[in-house]
Amino acid sequence: MSLLTRRKMLKSATPLAATLALPSLAAAIQDVSAPQQRPKLKITDVRTAQVRVHGLQTHVRVYSDQGLYGQGESTDAAVGTAALVHQFRRFLVGQDPLNVDALWERLRVSGIFAGAQGGQYITALSGIEIALWDLAGKALGLPIYQLLGGKFRDQIRIYCDSDMDDPTGSESDRKLQWIKDQGFTAMKIDLDDAADPHRFDRVNWTANNAEIDRMVRWVKHVRESIPKEMELACDMHGRYDAGTAKRVAKELEPFRLLWLEEPVPPEDIDAMAEVRHSTSTPIACGENLYLRWGYRELLNKNAVDIIQPDIQKVGGLSEGRKVANLAQISYVPVAPHCVVSPIGVMSTAHVCASIPNFLVCEWHWINFPDLWKSWVKEGEIIQKGYVTVTDKPGIGVEMNEDIARRAQIPTTTWFEPNKG
Ligand code: MG
Repeated sequence: MSLLTRRKMLKSATPLAATLALPSLAAAIQDVSAPQQRPKLKITDVRTAQVRVHGLQTHVRVYSDQGLYGQGESTDAAVGTAALVHQFRRFLVGQDPLNVDALWERLRVSGIFAGAQGGQYITALSGIEIALWDLAGKALGLPIYQLLGGKFRDQIRIYCDSDMDDPTGSESDRKLQWIKDQGFTAMKIDLDDAADPHRFDRVNWTANNAEIDRMVRWVKHVRESIPKEMELACDMHGRYDAGTAKRVAKELEPFRLLWLEEPVPPEDIDAMAEVRHSTSTPIACGENLYLRWGYRELLNKNAVDIIQPDIQKVGGLSEGRKVANLAQISYVPVAPHCVVSPIGVMSTAHVCASIPNFLVCEWHWINFPDLWKSWVKEGEIIQKGYVTVTDKPGIGVEMNEDIARRAQIPTTTWFEPNKG
């Protein structure tokens, strides 16, 4: 079968073009032709929209010359990423968006002196990379998991971050009941409390006996309030020293936690290893590490039981999968940190489907139920604590813009076309 040139394709489509807008024409071409028959795609623009839900997210769209666009999302270190995305746009326009890994690598190495080791640079790159995968999937008519090598599972287990200031306080009963009713099989609470009246110092987080007693009391209350089979994880947000972390991990051993998260700062890998080797409580870490290189020492030193890459900041879908593969060498399970919209959760689900060592994925929009349910046209994507990986092309969910704009950050633009 001969390949159609772009000129021939457009010529043959001219009668259609007279009656259809470009997106309809693109859809018609997708419907009636095999991928190898289609003209090569070219990136024509890269646009952003910034929202604030659980933190700030930058949504990125990569547009092509055939009416298709892909959408990605970046988070956490997303402040300032819109400016970086617009800077990357100069390189991306005119490129073939199907060369996802090569475009990503060109942008990464070109930023070696501009912060491309982590932070905002890699978070911006993550949003672009995810949009490229969405576009590639739409262009080829395949879900992203298929492009990542296929799936190990159809359903992705989700745990609910309860987002409570005080798990024994007034909101606790209502939230714990809601989490049970939704059918989640795992949940998480935070143990660090800046407002703990027993703290002696605003800066130093070394915990005293009273603070550790409060942590144990919180865990005991939640553990006794949820079904025995529901798993419980606890987060310390990297605020404590190794001495405190070891004491907390030891005292929580009877509760058989799913994990204790970032008990010490994530950059102190020796301390993380020291904590891990001191306790039977599983230790997890990773949401504040970037790229494969960010995980290398952590894994080489056997410093954690579970890793938690955030796909929307670690470098994107392909990089998240590579990090998971690195962890698989040591049979370390992966529980992605995930605080994003249904677009971000479904894109993360494609990675979770494509790796053998997936454990459970986070969901963090418990305080934004209305936005969550209507953010994408497909509606609620979590059923009984699981996301079913979609077979639609690309990520497989589309933003409901009227709803998403409710969270738009004032004074920012909304997927505004770029000039020149
Ligand atoms: Mg955390």
